[in-house]
This record gives sequence, C-alpha cells and structure tokens, in this order.
Amino acid sequence: MLQDYHFTVAERFQRYVQIDTQSDPQSITHPSTEKQKNLSTLLAAELLAMGLHDAHTDQFGYVYASIPANTKEPTPVVCFCAHIDTAPDCSGTHVKPILHKNYQGAPIILPEDPAQVLTVQRYPYLKEHIGSDIITASGLTLLGADDKAGVAIIMDMVHYLVIHPETAHGVIKILFTPDEEVGEGTAKLDLNKLEADFAFTLDGGELGTLEDETFSADSVTITIHGIIAHPGFAKGKMVNALRIAGSIAAALPFLEWCPESTTGKEGFVHLHAMSGLAEKASLEFLIRDFDTAQLLVHENKLKVLSENIVELYPGARMEFEVVEQYRNMKEILDQHPSILQYAVKAYEQVGIAVIKEPVRGGTDGSRLSFMGLPCPNLFTGMQAIHSKQEWVGVKDMEKSVEMLVALVGQIVTMKPL
Ligand SMILES: [Zn+2]
Repeated sequence: MLQDYHFTVAERFQRYVQIDTQSDPQSITHPSTEKQKNLSTLLAAELLAMGLHDAHTDQFGYVYASIPANTKEPTPVVCFCAHIDTAPDCSGTHVKPILHKNYQGAPIILPEDPAQVLTVQRYPYLKEHIGSDIITASGLTLLGADDKAGVAIIMDMVHYLVIHPETAHGVIKILFTPDEEVGEGTAKLDLNKLEADFAFTLDGGELGTLEDETFSADSVTITIHGIIAHPGFAKGKMVNALRIAGSIAAALPFLEWCPESTTGKEGFVHLHAMSGLAEKASLEFLIRDFDTAQLLVHENKLKVLSENIVELYPGARMEFEVVEQYRNMKEILDQHPSILQYAVKAYEQVGIAVIKEPVRGGTDGSRLSFMGLPCPNLFTGMQAIHSKQEWVGVKDMEKSVEMLVALVGQIVTMKPL
C-alpha cells in the first residue's frame, strides 16, 4: 500500500535517540528534567516545517499539533500520542544508535561493552528480523526505542499524510508527552488543546500487539510508630518500629501474591521500599490487579496481616494509607467499542494478525482513558526496553507507519458501532 513511499521513520528515530531525554523520578519540576525540552523543541519545529501551523511546545515540554481534516465526511477527531522521555533505569546520555543492515541472525556484540550480546536465544523475536535492518545502542546506554520509536512513527505518519493529500482523513491531533516513565506523563496535559474524541498511544512492542487492558493500580504506605527510649535503659520501654516492619516484610507470602510469583492476569502486592528508624518506619507497596474491585481485597488482606503483627508489640501502632494510581483502561474502552474496531480493521488492512495481551503495567493511555480520552496502545516494535540491549526492527516501525495511515482511513470510512 505504501510501496512507493520512502519511509523517514528510521532516519528520524536515529536522530531523536541521540537527544538525551531521561526523566528523573526524584524531581518535583515539570518536566522532571529540562533536557527533555531539547526534543520537544525539535519536534515542534519539524512539525511546523511540515506545515502543521499550530505546532508548538509549552513550558512543561509537551508538544501539540494538528492536521486539519481534508474530507467532508463527518469524522471523529483522533489523537496520536507518544512519550519523549526515556527510563531512569539506564543511561540515556550519548546514545549512539547502530543500524545493522540485513541482519543475518548471528550474535550482535555491542562495541562499547562486549559483555552486551544480543542473541536469538535470548531474544527469539530477532528471528523475525533476519534479512532486514535492526537498530541497537552501542553498549553503554539504552537505545530509547521506548518511546522514540513511537515518536518517529507518528512523525513519519504526519510526513506521509502531508505529501499524500489524496489520503482522506478527519482532524488528527499530535501529542508528545514528557515524563511518562516517572508516572507524570499527563500531569500538566492540557486536554482542552486536544479536543479529540479518542486517542492511541504508540508505545507497544512486538508487531501486531494491540493493548486495551492494563492493571488497575493503587499504592499503599504502612507507617509503623514504635516507642523510642535510650537503648541503655530501654528494657520494658522500647518498641522498635524497624523490628515490626521487618516482621511484616517477612510475613508476606513469596510463592504467591508477589511480582516474582505471578503472571498473566494475576494481580500482586509488591513491597518496593522500606525505610525508617527505631522510632518510626514505613513500608511502601504497589497493589496491582486487572479487576479494580480486587484491589480492595488485596489491601484488606495486607492490612489484616500487618495489624496482626503490630498487635504483638504493645504500644506500637500503624497507619495504613491507600493512594489511587491508575485504573484498567478496559473499563472505559468497553464503553466505546468502535475505537478498538478501527485499530483491528487497520491491522487487518495492512495484513497484520492482532495480538491482544493485557499489559502488566500502566500506560499514559490508562490515565488518558480516565481523563475522558479513551486510549488503547499500538505496537512500535521496541524490544528489551529500559536496557543496554534495547533494539528495534526497522520494518516493524515502517509497518506501524503504514498501519497508522490505514487507521486514519478506517476512522473516515467505518461507521461507529
Ligand atoms: Zn514507553
């Protein structure tokens, strides 16, 4: 379908990944790191240069732009969204993308750290790319395909539509967000600037994946108040909060109910941080389940387990605080079945088998869906994300561009369900 089109996605991708946009979970500013704006500014300029007259970036590092409709058919407004930041887990400074042309299946040793080797044993999906081009980092950093693959795919779709005005489409909104990796991707988002009916994030992995279901998520903080005394004269007086916190941690099941032992559609309770002094200690948990109602079940179980331990220490007391984090987007998407149908039809149109798997995490789309912008997640091809071995296949990114072009067409022609 796009046979004569000279894709720009791989070239764009290799430029964008060289711009350091790592976000910082410790920061309290928006964006969390000022350097993310280096990419926002570039993207806004490139969108302007392609003729998207309203393209701009704001003080928070978001990029907004729109392509006007070129059809008289009444067509819903769609937004395509990707995040510009890269994960704090792995360095994003001086990323040097390497294009491996016509990959033949042999191990790839990354030149700047020969201990980093990509093999088909470790990444069976590499086999799908034998005979085509893949891109890796050089060994010292992540690649940043998460989510600059998504960014480059959206930019190439814009490029295609601009030079192919005969492709009918409704109003298309472009959104690039900072700080997704630190959970702040929608914190300063101005939804009024978008006025979209629904959106798609380009932040998925393998070719064909279509994600409409994420975890629902709460966090829990348990604070233990002990009783402090001079340790030399503490007999019968001191109640050590650290000891209680340790007992709670030790009492958590480890063959079930935790990330290390759950998979598929199972939820979990994850103790991810402990801190404190003898007087006061805290335990921080992530609570996850696909069924939102189950969050309360997990929380009650955790509360009872903890209370039973605190009771063994007369004088100690505990606080149990629950904070909502995000909710399973499926609850919203099920109310708008046509959105997923547009994507399914577009995948079919370009010959891609749909792979639907629940995401054992959250996406910007989870939050966007509950902010009133229903938002499934589409594939980009990114693999081994957040690591030095991160890689992406060029043909996956190109197929994603082709799928997006089909998708904007489906939104014009399909009648909403
Ligand atoms: Zn991502």
